[in-house]
Amino acid sequence: MKDYLVKAIAYDGKIRCYAAVTTNTVEEARKRQDTWPTASAALGRTLTITVMMGAMLKGDDTITANIMGNGSLGKIVADANAHGEVRGYVSNPHVDFELNEKGKLDVKRAVGEGVLSVVKDLGLKDYFTGQVPIVSGEISEDFTYYFATSEQIPSAVGAGVLVAPDYHILAAGGFILQVMPGANDSIIDELEKNIANMPHISELIEKGYTPEQLLEQIVAKDSLKILESVPVQYKCKCSKARILRAIKGLGEAEIKSMIEKDKGAEATCHFCGEVYHITEDELKELLE
Ligand SMILES: [Zn+2]
Repeated sequence: MKDYLVKAIAYDGKIRCYAAVTTNTVEEARKRQDTWPTASAALGRTLTITVMMGAMLKGDDTITANIMGNGSLGKIVADANAHGEVRGYVSNPHVDFELNEKGKLDVKRAVGEGVLSVVKDLGLKDYFTGQVPIVSGEISEDFTYYFATSEQIPSAVGAGVLVAPDYHILAAGGFILQVMPGANDSIIDELEKNIANMPHISELIEKGYTPEQLLEQIVAKDSLKILESVPVQYKCKCSKARILRAIKGLGEAEIKSMIEKDKGAEATCHFCGEVYHITEDELKELLE
């Protein structure tokens, strides 16, 4: 199945729904960065949630999520746009712990304590920034807390990644449900009950469940109205021009030192692993 996400509403618009299957996207991230299973799960959950948050945006707006914990993963970064394009990385991809007491990858231990921040670039120099403490480390719960606290939208967030013994990604995906004004307690009770009773999301995706079918597990099927379907892919937006701009930002002294000491520069994109070679002449041009 190709990766995609759906936007939907349920209960006459009182619940806004997003669901995504991101298996290939998370596998692409794993291959590019050689993430080990616990790191794959942490990055994969973050990529999945971020791409759904991207789908809440319009036009060329972008969103970046940063999870800065004190665990061995270091920082987790993901950014996405409204067109299903997402990328991300972890500082330390070679993290793998024993399974936790529930038999799941121990993401909480790998993330640790710290802060989750979300930056939305809404164009025309308009930014939205929200920051919350990491309350769980399991990532889905941290975004749930973020939505409730920073955006004042009661939400349910779920994301899961299933990793094979040979480290490749068997299944990945997730959902976000948001409670709109007018939703009554009986709707919320029903959603909570369904979420508590549903099998683990990555297991459903491994069985071939589509984003639409994931939502049917949670909301009353006859009330679900799919609004849009968006293909999802891992896509980096790095380029030599962007790398050169970043080097320019380091300042004159640093660039002169690169020219004198190294006769050039080499930069690797954190997101996709692409290596850029910058020549001495290109560095000199930056100084002009
Ligand atoms: Zn890149």
